[in-house]
Amino acid sequence: MKTYNYGKQHLSLGDYLAVIKTLRSPFLTCGPKVREFEQAICNYTGAKYCVAVNSATSGLHIALLAAGIQPTDEVITSPITFLASANCARYIGATVKFADIETDTANISPLEIQKYLTEKTRALIPVHFAGQSCDMQEIKALVDGKDIVIIEDAAHAIGSDYKNTKVGSCTYSDMTVFSFHPVKTLTTCEGGAVTTNNKDLYEKLLAYRSHGMHKEGDMTQTWEYEMRELGYNYRMTDIQAALGTSQLKRLDIFKKRRREIVDYYNENLGLPHLFEKDFSNACFHLYPVLVENRKEFYEKARQNGLNLQVHYIPVHLQPYYKELGYNVGDFPKAEEYYEKTISLPLYYGLSDKDLEEIVGRVKGLI
Ligand SMILES: *Cc1c(COP(=O)(O)O)cnc(C)c1O
Repeated sequence: MKTYNYGKQHLSLGDYLAVIKTLRSPFLTCGPKVREFEQAICNYTGAKYCVAVNSATSGLHIALLAAGIQPTDEVITSPITFLASANCARYIGATVKFADIETDTANISPLEIQKYLTEKTRALIPVHFAGQSCDMQEIKALVDGKDIVIIEDAAHAIGSDYKNTKVGSCTYSDMTVFSFHPVKTLTTCEGGAVTTNNKDLYEKLLAYRSHGMHKEGDMTQTWEYEMRELGYNYRMTDIQAALGTSQLKRLDIFKKRRREIVDYYNENLGLPHLFEKDFSNACFHLYPVLVENRKEFYEKARQNGLNLQVHYIPVHLQPYYKELGYNVGDFPKAEEYYEKTISLPLYYGLSDKDLEEIVGRVKGLI
């Protein structure tokens, strides 16, 4: 029996050749391929600046550092997300505040965010769940005139649009963070990127990515540099960047196929699913459905060759966050969503025949 995972990378001959070519070049890291990839992301999203990093987790961390977030500050994010959206604030020692989701999209609710805004709030991290854009204009309106940065966690959403902008254009935010982990739509094995239109943030992101070093001009032309803040080694290699640039060329093809699969499931499964809002045109990363007896469904799916996944255990219910004072019942919509959600296979390599097969197997489970 053919088995299907909930997600899977897609690599082409062009991807392999790009990697091999870079392996045979003088620069394995800190070379021209990273700049090329960053430029390609700028061209695709419309953002002015891009900093490639070794993961989205690192990207979120340096985005908060570049924004000057302090241990006394509060950062608001969604409970229905991967741990990193919240952990990045804890790296700095800042307080994480969660705001509940909207049931139809599982995205953070702007109305809920409003409840948690205080004079200590310094950053909002909306997460574009499954690839669907949050209502960025509404979120931006919440912080108008306030000293609060918006960092979009777009780990799921490379290729997605919001109104007539690309996610990552930072039209309604200060920075956007992408992930290129293999389960995401594009991959560089491990990797991420931060986009911004703000030159000052860009320069800080560059410094935090590499030990807090500032250099004037080309490093190959001078040995002088200055360390002004405590940075990290969050650099992406040239090999990864070459793979990323090659993958990015297929992003719109990936998007088209992913949407076809979502439409097919929506029409043929008859299971409750996400309802994308009109302002969003998602490059779908996940296809979550809601099922009764999720545990049993998960086990039976495994026996039928479907290796599914749950996105996500609400972050505030993790032992670490409970220790910080969160509890069951704090975010009822997120918890209710979690009880039933499970993600079906969604990736570029699924053929029409695979989809028929998967729908047949899923129908046998319900
Ligand atoms: C995958 C993911 C991350 C972390 O990405 P890495 O590149 O693995 O660090 C952050 N936020 C969300 C919503 C994710 O899905």
